[in-house]
Amino acid sequence: MLKQPRILIIGAGMSGLLSAIRLLQSGNRNIVIYEKRDTLGGTWRDNVYPGLQCDVPAHMFTYSFEPNPEYSTRFPKGDEIQEYLERVCKKYKIEKLIHYEKTVDSAVHQAGNWTVQTSDGAVEVFDVIICATGILHHPNLPDIPGRDCFGGISFHTARWNRAANLKGQRVGVIGTGATAVQIVPEMVGFAAHLSLFQRTPQWIFPMPNKTYSENQKQRVRSSPRLAARLRWIYSKLFQWTFSRAVIGNPFLLFAIQKLCQSHLNRKVKDPSLRAKLTPKFQAGCKRLIFGKGFYQAMQSPNASLVCEDIISIDETGVNTIDGRHHELDVLIYATGFRAHDYMRPMLVMGPSGRTMNQAWNQGAYAHRSTMVPGFPNFFLIFGPYSPIGNYSAISVAEVQVNYILKLLKLLETTHNNLIEPIEQKTRALQKKLEVASRKTVWLSGCRSWYIDPHGRTTMWPWTFERFERELSKVSVREFSLFKKANVEL
Ligand code: NAP
Repeated sequence: MLKQPRILIIGAGMSGLLSAIRLLQSGNRNIVIYEKRDTLGGTWRDNVYPGLQCDVPAHMFTYSFEPNPEYSTRFPKGDEIQEYLERVCKKYKIEKLIHYEKTVDSAVHQAGNWTVQTSDGAVEVFDVIICATGILHHPNLPDIPGRDCFGGISFHTARWNRAANLKGQRVGVIGTGATAVQIVPEMVGFAAHLSLFQRTPQWIFPMPNKTYSENQKQRVRSSPRLAARLRWIYSKLFQWTFSRAVIGNPFLLFAIQKLCQSHLNRKVKDPSLRAKLTPKFQAGCKRLIFGKGFYQAMQSPNASLVCEDIISIDETGVNTIDGRHHELDVLIYATGFRAHDYMRPMLVMGPSGRTMNQAWNQGAYAHRSTMVPGFPNFFLIFGPYSPIGNYSAISVAEVQVNYILKLLKLLETTHNNLIEPIEQKTRALQKKLEVASRKTVWLSGCRSWYIDPHGRTTMWPWTFERFERELSKVSVREFSLFKKANVEL
């Protein structure tokens, strides 16, 4: 029998836990998970703001092998997703593999292994690294002059200050993305006044939510077949509508635009407010927002929409270009994430001495979204070109983890221990992705986290079915396979 590779999974979020479960199921027991924080959960641990709900239906936002009948609403609440992940972790005995408060500072490939240094000074050696560090985990704090001078309470939405009492306070929210649209309806309920600083209005799709009764939950609990069927129905519904629209289906885009526009017309009667809330780009160009209650909230007597550009922040509030000073007690940054940093600032250095920063200096790229040439045995989950527009991140991660397992199997069956994709093959695939991206709605003229600093979108530009198909088998001729020197097999 071959010696099992020693595998490091970086990150104990949804995709890191999934990687561990699948590796254990495939017989690998030589696994360690490094998690930078003191609890698991990733996105669902970091985001605890009021009103947090996932925009993917509950029955579809589970691992395929582990339904969750306990979700109480069609669009699951953030804390229920976190509870689900904790339950799954316990059930599959993953907890003992996790080393908390371990931030990986560097991973350097030398002598056929990855030497990993963590911020506590420890150094360990691994055969394989699976980088499950997520996409939306580096908060983006805007570079507004005077930001640090604010004398009240301020925080980013992914670093919610649970100790802060927002009741009866003058609250400012900067940003109008999916996060702000969920926070605002909650906040108007208890703030003395809410000022929403909008740089760009957003389209909001009127998606109905519903609460599941105890009876309905019980039916799902007692029938795994029903759970699987619901998962399939919601997945197909999303694949055939939103996911197809955003990759360029003009009829679906037209219908979505119409529904968003009529939602706005119905909910906002004042023409001047409606004009301020009307986006100038095609619905779907930015991540389509599913929301309820935002338009009503913006018409509350204690809410104001500020559309003038912010020029500075001072001790008592925000200054806008029209000369107004907006006095605030609390300032919340709903300003999104630096999605294109991926695992960085971690230093990743391949055997030739080339770093990931150097490899990606013209923009991040990867072989089938999971490996980068020059970095053997270094696997990515949610690498470049893997997110699928308005679709379940869990389903995407499952496809990638299964693909990574196939690559590890290939090493075993060919009696090799190092694998990396061939640069030329990777670049050829990349070209196709870039050509297909031009047809997507994401490049139709808006600014969003879907577009990288080089003006490219790094989303998967085809259907989810194609993603599944392309990663369902390994094309051996796309890879170089090696044996480490002096290794006992
Ligand atoms: P986001 O969509 O990137 O929105 C950031 C907002 O901040 C935008 O309105 C942006 O304005 C604004 N902003 C950024 N810098 C600014 C500056 N210097 N001055 C003024 N405004 C500034 O971030 P997000 O709302 O956190 O959402 C990120 C993603 O997380 C979503 O697209 C979604 O994928 C995910 N998410 C999902 C859910 C859900 O499942 N329901 C909930 C929340 C988040 P511009 O538009 O002008 O750039």
